[in-house]
Amino acid sequence: MPWRNTTDPYAIWLSEVMLQQTQVSTVEPYYHRFLQRFPDIESLAAAPLEEVLKLWAGLGYYRRAKSLHRAAQFVASTYHHVFPCKYDDILQLPGIGPYTAGAIASIAFREIVPVLDGNVMRVLTRLLLIQDDIAKPQTRKLLWKIAGSLVPNQDPGDFNQAMMELGATVCTPINPRCESCPLETLCAARREHLQHQIPVKQIKAATPHIKLAAVIISSPQGHLLARRKPGGLWEHLWEFPAFELPRPTAASVSSRLLALTGMRIKLKRHDATITHQLTHRRMEYTLFMGQSMTKAAAQINMKIASYYDTIRWITDMKTVPKSRLTEKISALSR
Ligand code: SF4
Repeated sequence: MPWRNTTDPYAIWLSEVMLQQTQVSTVEPYYHRFLQRFPDIESLAAAPLEEVLKLWAGLGYYRRAKSLHRAAQFVASTYHHVFPCKYDDILQLPGIGPYTAGAIASIAFREIVPVLDGNVMRVLTRLLLIQDDIAKPQTRKLLWKIAGSLVPNQDPGDFNQAMMELGATVCTPINPRCESCPLETLCAARREHLQHQIPVKQIKAATPHIKLAAVIISSPQGHLLARRKPGGLWEHLWEFPAFELPRPTAASVSSRLLALTGMRIKLKRHDATITHQLTHRRMEYTLFMGQSMTKAAAQINMKIASYYDTIRWITDMKTVPKSRLTEKISALSR
């Protein structure tokens, strides 16, 4: 992986942030594109947030991009564009938790600090036969302590990366490859034939299922898009106006659109629906299409718009940052 061949703290930081909740194969092209456009802290800090979000579009969890941008500006102003080299200082940067701080400090600066992500947790719990629930804070605390006690004085970054890679490629969640594992003779779970039952994790409650309607309106001015307010889901991103409705019909969606924008538009239901999975909820979108002949600027009723701060006709959708969901809806409507 390209980020395993560098000691540049900026590149390591970028890769670790992108890899949160995202697969390696998805991250790789984004990582290269991002580094090409923003090769260092200075260029990222100087860029407008909109441009950063546009480059991030499709990678999901947009809060990461905003924190990255804010942290770059913090490093630029507080450390004169030089990435801090101590774990404690790195941990103070926006959006950086103990895992990312540990990865940057140990790999880029050879500081003797541990990392603990899902992969390392799996290796440690199996190796030491820890059967406590890894979702519990006290179990995490114990695992951090164990991870810290194992990091060697020499090459702590190599050790941490080896632990992460072992978890990602050999000690995998399903069907760990114990027969080719370098820790096989030391591993208590393997000895007890319990590797498939460990780590123990509480089963989460079922995620709520929310039904929504998204409206795709085209006009001579382009498509009608609304921008999400700061502070909530998909903040600052543009999308087709959407409403939460348990049983959306053309008439009910049309009247919600009228209240939001003052536009009376005849809508037609699209055959397809789109399901989008977020960490804590599952969203099912029914699509409605319509046409407007107006050349006037789009208006938004702020009393109704609880999660939008503006609405506009957008001629070229490529010019605004959007979520992957909006890309999906746009592709389907075409
Ligand atoms: S022996 Fe098996 S369970 Fe133990 S650390 Fe290696 S891959 Fe994981």
